[in-house]
Amino acid sequence: MAEKLLEVRSLTTGFAAGQGLVKAAEGVTISIDRGQTICLVGESGSGKSVTSLSIMRLVEFAGGMISEGSIRLGGEELTTKSQKEMSRIRGNKMAMIFQEPMSALNPVFSVGEQIAESIRLHQRTNAAEARRRAVDMLRLVGIPDPHIRAKQYPHELSGGMCQRVVIAIALACSPDLLIADEPTTALDVTVQAQILDLLRSLQRDLGMSILLITHDMGVAAQMADRIAVMYAGVIVEDGPAQDLFEHPAHPYTMGLLRSVPSMDGEREESLYTIPGTVPSLHQLPQGCRFHPRCQSAMARCAVESPPLEGVGPDHKTACWLYDNSAGSKEVLSK
Ligand code: SF4
Repeated sequence: MAEKLLEVRSLTTGFAAGQGLVKAAEGVTISIDRGQTICLVGESGSGKSVTSLSIMRLVEFAGGMISEGSIRLGGEELTTKSQKEMSRIRGNKMAMIFQEPMSALNPVFSVGEQIAESIRLHQRTNAAEARRRAVDMLRLVGIPDPHIRAKQYPHELSGGMCQRVVIAIALACSPDLLIADEPTTALDVTVQAQILDLLRSLQRDLGMSILLITHDMGVAAQMADRIAVMYAGVIVEDGPAQDLFEHPAHPYTMGLLRSVPSMDGEREESLYTIPGTVPSLHQLPQGCRFHPRCQSAMARCAVESPPLEGVGPDHKTACWLYDNSAGSKEVLSK
């Protein structure tokens, strides 16, 4: 049986607002095996980034607070760690890369110095050894002439090269888990494909696990072993990637899949978009959070919140369409 690396259970993270807490992620449960890639998918505002920042315990620096739940990495509980302990875990056991490579790099230091600095921050090594390893890391992430590139500054490199440098910094200390938050969104399409290829080959070579945050089902299709779909702060579907693509259960997942451009070469007249927008966290609808946008909504959907339950082996969804216990299945007219 595969070994679990990350186990997140019933995680709730909120932001203080007035007298209460606005929950940006609620009851999130996901787990990642060693060497596995999980994609957390959903539109912006669905709670994906808050979930990933919570796992890193960086959400507290953005004013957030983990109010419930457990995060275990390699069996170690992270929610009770001090930030001093977390800074040792970040970089050594898990690392994160973000959407905008330029804003992750310091413009006044060469890229080689920045990688070496990351190595020295987390591991006992002298400056010369850290510089040598920085060049090795640039080579590992596919940067040509790494000795020359190591001396260059971020503005001298393309966006794709900068994202490779950011990946090199994240991997400098061989983390078990890499969290990548929309790592290709700011890049053009051909560079996107190269960065995804790079992540796949690094994962194969280094055996790390990846939690990939994306709004793009096309990216998830290329990368994921497993997919968790988030909507308005909750997981609405979770299952093995192939099963979820072949048999999507939740109407929101079906909508996301219909929004992906066709791969068969035929041009679609117009690309499908899910009607409406993700609700504000301050004004979440009662019942199923997706019901105002759902073409299959029934009367009970506006009143009762559906639990996440099995619809197949290892495949769960939160939708009343799969509950036969009670209530009319007549679809509400929209
Ligand atoms: Fe649609 Fe109802 Fe299922 Fe929500 S519970 S996704 S509103 S059918």
